[in-house]
Amino acid sequence: MDFKYFDAHTHVQFVAYDPDREETIERAREASVAMNVVGTQQDTSAAAVAFAEKYDHIWASIGLHPIHTSKSYHDTKELGEGGKEFTSRGEVFDKEYYRALGASERVIAIGECGLDYYRLEGDTKDTQHRTFIEQIELANELSKPLMLHIRNAYDDAIALVKAHAKVQGDMHFFAGGWNVARRFLDLGFTLSFTGVLTFTHDYDEIVKNAPLDMILSETDAPYITPVPHRGKRNESAFVPLVVERIAAIRGEAPEHVRTQILKNAKRVFGLA
Ligand SMILES: [Zn+2]
Repeated sequence: MDFKYFDAHTHVQFVAYDPDREETIERAREASVAMNVVGTQQDTSAAAVAFAEKYDHIWASIGLHPIHTSKSYHDTKELGEGGKEFTSRGEVFDKEYYRALGASERVIAIGECGLDYYRLEGDTKDTQHRTFIEQIELANELSKPLMLHIRNAYDDAIALVKAHAKVQGDMHFFAGGWNVARRFLDLGFTLSFTGVLTFTHDYDEIVKNAPLDMILSETDAPYITPVPHRGKRNESAFVPLVVERIAAIRGEAPEHVRTQILKNAKRVFGLA
């Protein structure tokens, strides 16, 4: 497929798409958008790989999201309705399981993995650290980039990446300040931006300051729907709106920005 855009982080395997998943995937294809479907635990990672093997505009990332290392978290868009006691199991990272999934040529990154201190309780910090290190080690072993999810934990995350990672990757949904952004860029990590750029100016400085060859576009669908679709479920076909917004913030030609961001994704994820 000759695609024009790359959605570096999307979750079309989540239950939010159960009613119309095939149509959603088809709309992305029609919009010339290729997708990195990102896993968050065992089943969503396996589902991502299954879609990547079925569709030529889909690739997969496999990993254990830091919030799924504890039992407290439940998101109905991801896991469906019902009590969290049935669905959020506090997964222990099973390297064998993910290594086997990672044998697929369609797997382009390990993650989303990282640290999330937003909902921290008890000993989850230690668990998150251990789980993150194991995934960095798997990424090293498979020579695949990391798809990072970091929230309220930038210093610790940078220290763990520096100490353990032999690979680079992408900092998904970057939501820190320019000083933090610069540290990830110095480590060779790209920053990916979502539709949040279409309804807040909070990240304009970073979008302007970052080198264009270190920026990726993503939707993080089903979340963070860009203007003018606010209030609706997000989807990968909307990623051109993020790319347009990046060009507008930087004051650069949209076509130039589009081609460079696509080139960046191909470089980071090793796509032909
Ligand atoms: Zn995500």
